[in-house]
Amino acid sequence: MKTNVHKPVIYSLQSQFFGFIQIVALLSFLGIPLLAWFIPMPMTDWYKLAGVSLSSLLFLLFVFRVLIPRVGSSKWINILAIVSSIILIAHTAYLLHPYNVSVEILYFLVIAGIGIAGGHRISLWIAPVPTAVVLLFTFWHSHDTINIPALAIKILILLMTGYAISFLTGMIHDQLIHTAKQYRYLATLHQVGTIASSSEDLKNILSHISELITQDIPATSCCICLLSPQEDQIIIYGAYPIRPLVGWNICVDDHFNISGLPIVQEVLENGQCRVLRKDLPECAAAEQNAGLFIDGVRTVCLVPLKIKDKKLGVISIGEARSWEREPFNQEKIGFLQTLAAQIAPVIYNPQLFQEANQKAQRLAALNEVARAIGSTIELDQLLNLIYEQLNQVIPSDTYYVSLYNPQEETLDIRVLIDDGIRFPRQIIVLGDGFSSWVINNRSPLHVRHLSQEIDALPVKPVQLGLDRLSESWLGVPLIIGEQVLGLLAIASYEPYAFDEDDVVLLSSVAQQAALALDNARNHAAVKEQARRDSLTGVYNHGYLILRLEEEVEKCRHSGGMISLIMIDIDHFKLYNDQYGHLVGDEVLRRLAASMQAHAKKTDIAGRWGGEEFAIVLIGASTDQAYQVAQRIRKSLAELQLYDKHGTAIPSPTISQGIATFPLHARDAAELVDAADMLLYKAKEMGRDQVRTAD
Ligand code: GH3
Ligand code: MG
Ligand code: MG
Repeated sequence: MKTNVHKPVIYSLQSQFFGFIQIVALLSFLGIPLLAWFIPMPMTDWYKLAGVSLSSLLFLLFVFRVLIPRVGSSKWINILAIVSSIILIAHTAYLLHPYNVSVEILYFLVIAGIGIAGGHRISLWIAPVPTAVVLLFTFWHSHDTINIPALAIKILILLMTGYAISFLTGMIHDQLIHTAKQYRYLATLHQVGTIASSSEDLKNILSHISELITQDIPATSCCICLLSPQEDQIIIYGAYPIRPLVGWNICVDDHFNISGLPIVQEVLENGQCRVLRKDLPECAAAEQNAGLFIDGVRTVCLVPLKIKDKKLGVISIGEARSWEREPFNQEKIGFLQTLAAQIAPVIYNPQLFQEANQKAQRLAALNEVARAIGSTIELDQLLNLIYEQLNQVIPSDTYYVSLYNPQEETLDIRVLIDDGIRFPRQIIVLGDGFSSWVINNRSPLHVRHLSQEIDALPVKPVQLGLDRLSESWLGVPLIIGEQVLGLLAIASYEPYAFDEDDVVLLSSVAQQAALALDNARNHAAVKEQARRDSLTGVYNHGYLILRLEEEVEKCRHSGGMISLIMIDIDHFKLYNDQYGHLVGDEVLRRLAASMQAHAKKTDIAGRWGGEEFAIVLIGASTDQAYQVAQRIRKSLAELQLYDKHGTAIPSPTISQGIATFPLHARDAAELVDAADMLLYKAKEMGRDQVRTAD
């Protein structure tokens, strides 16, 4: 990944800092020729002095501009500076000595320069050097007797002044370093803000921030890991460097199980930074395997990313410098915590936004489901509508709705859509599958990761639809009052496809769906009732005619056959008069039941009116219809009937006429006429018989 973090702020700070040191150094070295200017000396000596200052200036430029930027500030560069300073002081003292100049001021200037540039640790080493040089020259050049007490006082004053200057300038140095660091940290925080607003992609943002941290802290590596929504894994969102380091295998999108990272877990739990040393046994295999320690990294600082109590993840910063040099001091840890506090909202706010967005979407979907439910009372249309709405808020691979038949203990799978493929309606017997569990327990079942949970589950999956098992499964019952109507289920081939919010949403949808289902059922029942004859339960005249016409038309196109049996009870008026209307009604009911019992499920039995009935036998020949008619006639003869006193009475006989389409008629009306005519013929021929056209 090509990152383009801009660093002008940082670099200008660094150059300002070094620039200041250089100016101080420059002034102290320029002091040498300036001083010499006021002292009368031969030009040759002046040239020598100027040469010494110029070469030391060039040397300084070389150290600050070339050496330090290339190899960084290190111990041997400090030693180089000390040694060269001593040489410079000695050389200047030697040159200025014949002119009786008080060179001590120059020494102090040099000590001040070194103190500001390198801190008091270095300048303390230099402090006694001018004293030693003075002592040396005093003894070397003095031809008179030396005034020991005066010399001792002079040395004491020189030493004390040297140390005092060294301490004072050291403090300036520390303050400068501190200020520069603060500026750098501030600039880093500012950069984080800029990066966060530069992109919408969290991985892109966190990759840039990792790079920024690595370069600005500075550190060897940085890796930003976020907690998965289930809080069982950490996922790498940003890492720097990506892969160029030996042993650095971390890559964006890598997952690690949090259970294998006890220290990361602890950091997340108590929200405190932890500094880990590679050589300590506590950071054994687990953390090392997770790639926190790469080759060369000896110390790792783990900074928690948290907002209030919400755990978001950790930043892991690797440092190659040894533990003893304290790569993560309190100041740096404090800064890292501030940085984490700045980064946390960058991670959390989009999550919040997404959550709010999802909630709004869910509410809208629920609304839409309610609206859709209100708009239709046709069952299949309703189930498809629910599917369409649901699919928009909870994307799933499989969707199905089953209706429960408590009498037969079966599930009628009305809608089954798997991976976009619609499967035909099927009826399965309630067993020990997930659906059966939901029906039997009247509560939702949520399987998050089937392959991992399968052994612990109370039930086993049953394969429906495509020939592969789903990893995520979520089913909720459709309940109205005490009655379980069925279940609504979604499934995915990916694990962890659904969360607790989905369970709530699906349950709400199921509640609405159950209501609608109940409505649809009631509507269907009312509709069916309107087609039936209230006394006998068979179809009424209107529906019978309607269906007869439909079937005849269908038959005309398919080229099949339809037979119509017309039935009339013989002398029913007399029968009624003799045994009463209630017995007559009973006869009508028993005859209707017998008709239904002897006809096929697909045949249509109805009451033509009064004591006349008809049966439409679909696909039946005249012969087949004749068999049915005879069976009905026989069953009626065998009826056992009693009058109101409990005395056994004979059952009435029936006459029947049979006509077949298209043999005896060209349409439904002709068929009815033909059958009616044959019925009339049966009456004429003496009743209690079946008449056909043959
Ligand atoms: P036929 O053998 O010629 O058909 O003689 P029938 O008496 O059956 O014929 P008719 O059409 O003269 O009489 C029909 C009788 O059916 C009249 C009525 O009493 C009786 N009936 C019609 N509807 C009902 C009913 O719903 N219940 C009862 N108990 N009787 C009915
Ligand atoms: Mg009649
Ligand atoms: Mg009759």
